[in-house]
This record gives sequence, C-alpha cells and structure tokens, in this order.
Amino acid sequence: LSEKLDKALHVLKGHGSITEVNVAETLKEVRRALLDADVNFKIAKEFTNRVKEKALGQNVLTTLQPGQLMVKIVKDELTELMGGDAAGINLSGKPTVILMSGLQGSGKTTFSGKLANFLKNKKTKKPLLVACDVYRPAAVDQLHVVGEQIKVDVYSDKGNTDPVAIAKAGIAHAKENGHNVVIIDTAGRLAVDEAMMTEISNIHKAIEPQETLFVVDSMTGQDAVNTAKAFNDVLNFDGVILTKLDGDTRGGAAISIKSVVDKPIKFIGTGEKMEAIDIFYPSRMADRILGMGDVVSLVERAQEQFDEDEARKLQKKIAKNQFGFDDFLKQIQQIKKMGNMKDLVGMIPGAGKMMKDVDIDDDAFKGIEAIIHSMTPEERTNPSVINASRKKRIGKGSGTSVTQVNQLLKQFDQMSKMMKMMQGGGGKRMMQAMKN
Ligand code: GDP
Ligand code: MG
Repeated sequence: LSEKLDKALHVLKGHGSITEVNVAETLKEVRRALLDADVNFKIAKEFTNRVKEKALGQNVLTTLQPGQLMVKIVKDELTELMGGDAAGINLSGKPTVILMSGLQGSGKTTFSGKLANFLKNKKTKKPLLVACDVYRPAAVDQLHVVGEQIKVDVYSDKGNTDPVAIAKAGIAHAKENGHNVVIIDTAGRLAVDEAMMTEISNIHKAIEPQETLFVVDSMTGQDAVNTAKAFNDVLNFDGVILTKLDGDTRGGAAISIKSVVDKPIKFIGTGEKMEAIDIFYPSRMADRILGMGDVVSLVERAQEQFDEDEARKLQKKIAKNQFGFDDFLKQIQQIKKMGNMKDLVGMIPGAGKMMKDVDIDDDAFKGIEAIIHSMTPEERTNPSVINASRKKRIGKGSGTSVTQVNQLLKQFDQMSKMMKMMQGGGGKRMMQAMKN
C-alpha cells in the first residue's frame, strides 16, 4: 500500500501547482491503492469522495502549495477514518476483567501475555492470566509458558471442560490472591461457527468483562472485516487488537474494521516477543500507510515559517529566470528559521537514506553566507559576470577559497536550473538541490 500511495501522492508532492484533473487522477490512484490493500470498495470510495470535498472546500487549487495541502488532507482523513485519537483501555472494576476473543491463530494467547506484561510494567497492576481454551491441552501449556516468561501467574484447570466455569473460578482466584486485572484467554476456531460464538457469548454473559477485546490477524485482509462483524454482532466488543503488523505493512485491515464495526483499535502486535506490543495511534498508522515519514509536521512547520508573499515573489522570479544570490540568501535564512536542520531533514520522506553521508548542520550555511556577502550587488543578480579575478576577491573577502567560491557557483547554477524545472520554492527542494 505504501508504495502505491507514495506513487499516487508523488505527483502532488512534486508539483508546485496542480490542476483539477491532477486532483482527480491522484484520488483515483489513492483509491486504487486502498483497494489493493484490501480496503472494502465502498469504504475506499467514500474516503476519496470525502478527501475531494475537503480539497474543494479548502480551495486547494488556489493555495500556494496545493500538493502539500492535499497530502495533509489525505493524511488527516485517513487518521480520522482509523479513529482519530488513540483509545485507552478501561481498567475500572475490582478486579478488571478483560476477555479475549477471536479466531484460532489470530494471536489471542500471545497478546494475553503481552497485555499482562504491559500492565505489570505499570507497577500498580498485578495481572492474572486465565486459560479457557479447553480443546487443546497444548493451549493451556502455551499460556503457562508465556506466564513464566513474563512472571505473571496463570490460572488453569486441566480436567475441566467448561470454559464458563474456569473463567468464573479464575476471577475468584484473582480476588483471593490480590490480582487486580484478570485476562481471560479463550479458544478460537479456524472460521466463524455457531459453537464458537455460543461459547464466547456464554463466557461474556457470565463474567461481564470491563473490556472485551477482539484479536485479529492484520494479514487476513477482507476476511478480517467479516470476522470482526460476526464477533461484534454477538459480543458488542470494546476494542480491536491488530496483530502481526510486523509481517505486513498493509493497513487495510485497520481501515476496514474500524469503518465496519466502529470500534477503536486499541493495541497492535508487532512480533512474537512479549515486548512486541504498541498502543495504536491512528495518526502514526496513517503515516505508515502513506509511507511519508512525518511529512505532515514538515508541511505545517514550513507553512508557519515561510512568508507566503515572499514565496510568491520568488516563484515569479524563478519563472522569469531572475533568481539571484540575494534570493538564495533569503531562502537560506528562511530555512534556518525553520529550525534545526537535522530535525527538518529527518522529516522529509526518504531523506534518511538520501542524506546518509551528508552531514548537514547550520554551520554548513556559514561559508555560503560569507561568500554571498562578499559579492557586489551586480554579482548577486547576475552571477555570470564573476570571472577569475572576481572569484579571487570574493574568496579573500569571505575568508574562503576560490575552490569554495567555484563550488557555490556550481551549486547555484544547478539549483537555478532545477528550480526553474520545478517552478516552485520550498525548503525541501532547496535542500535537495544543495545536496548536489
Ligand atoms: P491464538 O490461537 O489466537 O491464541 O494465537 P497465538 O497467540 O497462539 O498465535 C498464533 C501464532 O501467531 C503464534 O505462532 C504466535 O507466535 C504468532 N503471533 C502472535 N502475535 C504475533 C505478532 O504480533 N507478530 C507475529 N509475527 N507473530 C505473532
Ligand atoms: Mg490460544
């Protein structure tokens, strides 16, 4: 999904100005990318329609950086679609009872352990794991292994074949032994069927948990939606746990499930180890889906710091081939205003790779600024007049060398060409150009 969306948004990111056709085409690409990630057709269509409305509402086409604004709208909508803010977990109740549900192999037992470990590390919580999978003796052993690993007590009753009775006994055991959280691990089947639904529903009714969590393998795509719906119809669960996100970068399941059952995704599983648990943050997931790094904050910061009028003037100059060293100096000052260079570069998608060998810091500009300051106004507006003797003078005046002056002139030349090609200002391109 990432790659496809990246491609779709690439058009917009690269262009200083976009047309209505451009917007429509990009939205089509975004929709295709969502469909490829197993997002339900209806959801994907509704999504792109909403983005389009927002884009029109905000007059995207008339703003200075329409591409970036579009990227921001797509990201915001995606975040909203996945639930907006991160959802917490209800820890009321004495003890708090948390019931796991889901198909066999979805990761219930693993996640029960992860959650117990996560809560145990909060210090005020003393969890108990309860083994209610009565069909496979190995399942009970598995929970015991997990419990030993994280040093959390496990309640089980191997001869007992009634999961409701075990769950109740487990809660009683917790009360007697000072556990304030009880996590009930249950049996699942390979597919949704009556027997499983009846069983989980009976457990649910008998113990009235504070949190009923539905655990789902993120790699199951569209099937995940149907399963989620079936479980939600019976349990009206409180939240979704999306497991195995380490194995698959597609976010399709997250989007579809949230849309269909309208329950928050609370945690994600990112590996087999007990530590591989994360709170689900919709905005981070949107970033991941869009594969854009922290592009949105970059855009916001850039928008804050860049004087729009100034940028507009600059664009005109570039278009007319009048971009000179004075403008370059202004751009450098703008970039410096935006904050620490490394932070900024880190926010540019793909920059990590690109900039690996280049050590950029504010000092990198000092020499450049000194050289420009040593130029005459004529030299700044028309660098072509800078001959060998002028270079010597500039080098001396700026405390640099002719080589450094040459280097800057070459960079400037390349940059002017590139800027003309791209027809737009902005720190990102600026830095890309300077890298050469
Ligand atoms: P259950 O049948 O629902 O209890 O599922 P299990 O907890 O036994 O998990 C099934 C398999 O998935 C096991 O091999 C787990 O190690 C694996 N698993 C669970 N969660 C994750 C995860 O987040 N990432 C990865 N890579 N594997 C996981
Ligand atoms: Mg299990």
